[in-house]
Amino acid sequence: MTTSDKFLSELINRLGQEYVSVDSLEKLVYAHDFAALPKFVKLLFNTTPDVIVRPKSTEHVTEIMKLANEYKIPVIPRGSATWGFGGTVPVKGGIILDLTGLNRIIHLDEKNGLLTVECGVVWEDVIRFLRKTCWELPTYPSSALSSTVGGWAATGGIGYGSLKYGPFVKNVVKVTAVLPDGRVIVVDDNSDPSLSQLFGSEGILCVFTELTLKMVPKNEAEMPFMANFSNFANALMAAQEVLRLTRPHSLVLRTFGFVRTKDYVESDAYFFGCFNDNRRDVYEQYLKLDSIVNRYRGYLVPEDEARREWEERFYTLRIKKWGPSILGNEFIIPVHKILDMVRYCWQLGNQAHLDVEVEVMFISKDEALMFPLFLCDERKPIRYLMSAAIAKKVLDVAIKVGGRPYGYGLWNFPFMEIAEPEKKRELERMKSTLDSQNLLNPGKTIGAEVMLGLPLPGKLYSTFMDGVWVLRKVI
Ligand SMILES: Cc1cc2nc3c(=O)[nH]c(=O)nc-3n(C[C@H](O)[C@H](O)[C@H](O)COP(=O)(O)OP(=O)(O)OC[C@H]3O[C@@H](n4cnc5c(N)ncnc54)[C@H](O)[C@@H]3O)c2cc1C
Repeated sequence: MTTSDKFLSELINRLGQEYVSVDSLEKLVYAHDFAALPKFVKLLFNTTPDVIVRPKSTEHVTEIMKLANEYKIPVIPRGSATWGFGGTVPVKGGIILDLTGLNRIIHLDEKNGLLTVECGVVWEDVIRFLRKTCWELPTYPSSALSSTVGGWAATGGIGYGSLKYGPFVKNVVKVTAVLPDGRVIVVDDNSDPSLSQLFGSEGILCVFTELTLKMVPKNEAEMPFMANFSNFANALMAAQEVLRLTRPHSLVLRTFGFVRTKDYVESDAYFFGCFNDNRRDVYEQYLKLDSIVNRYRGYLVPEDEARREWEERFYTLRIKKWGPSILGNEFIIPVHKILDMVRYCWQLGNQAHLDVEVEVMFISKDEALMFPLFLCDERKPIRYLMSAAIAKKVLDVAIKVGGRPYGYGLWNFPFMEIAEPEKKRELERMKSTLDSQNLLNPGKTIGAEVMLGLPLPGKLYSTFMDGVWVLRKVI
């Protein structure tokens, strides 16, 4: 019996056969996240998991972690795999820990507005559950239809509502987490490690299994809005003034880009969002919005159209139909650099002959989350690789102008040293304390590893991508 046979039979003994799969088709599915992998990735990493495990409880996760430690097998936590930075892609096989089976909404404390859920609950289920109550979520991601609560705790935690209520981490009271050695801890603002140390750790420090979330009371009125502009600069200035003079729940600015050329929309940019407050405040804010939009020569679309756009806010990726693939990156950027960055994205799109669309979600008066998307075609491997280099070029410039990547995972790992060196030191310190065997999601975020556990230097990776970008001119 080989080590892996022994490991597998012990895993099945401890958990039960129904929670464990070695089916080769399933392994293929679990070898990637929602983004298509350029072919060269298969040469560098072993992206095929050895086994997929579907725990149903914190105790199951503990058992799996303990066994993984005994046999020194990597464990890759996975929610719905909607995060496109490669965080759930194995780099040296191992165990995929599919957490979507931990999907119970455990308890709503009606009096204090605190909701306890398991990590694999999908946001849409939370939203639906709360409809029957007097509470609502302060913030949720635009991937709410499929992504999990634990997945958002492990990644950025900025989404709809963050502009008004702050990021996800500010709206969580406590979490239960399993550490890489199998210990279970309860984490809050005052614990060691604290919530803010573990939030956004991209699945390399712990597995979140249970979370208690703060709710906000439902507002008396909700008023979605949408305004079209004939140029992006005006839309941006108007949006900044809206941020200064009103208190929107969310504000999202989009260039029409290829949507316009393909669908014949008559304006260059639009923003949409929502006010939620008491009736009078909502009405007053809407009046202010109207005068700002007029001043910048835009126009507010009728209320039913604005409501439709708001209701469609979860379908960002519908634009994929024009691809068939999309490539992009996400970063946080100072608001006063948005215009330069949008122009740069257009310029890159032109150089690479790729259509580009940019989305900007404001998170405060000073900062925004920017999401440029380039249309491409993964069925043409060489050209697809060339296009992949564009995601790196965009980040190079975003960091130069004071931005930082929104996530690192597998694809952006070289940027942490440049953009957030102190955060990297802190993560490295915690990683060596909590996971000395480097078993939880290895080869991500703070450094990559290729086949045989060899480190992939960030500089080499960056130089390779720069070379690919230059080569695109001749291919
Ligand atoms: C259309 C679309 C819209 C999006 N909008 C937003 C948005 O508004 N805001 C935003 O922040 N992101 C957004 N994203 C990115 C992504 O959906 C979010 O990061 C989401 O929270 C990921 O959840 P998931 O369950 O899919 O996690 P996965 O993709 O499965 O995992 C992401 C990372 O977290 C780790 N992980 C997953 N679950 C756990 C856990 N329980 N414990 C520890 N580690 C874990 C994984 O190892 C991986 O590294 C969007 C993506 C798409 C496709």
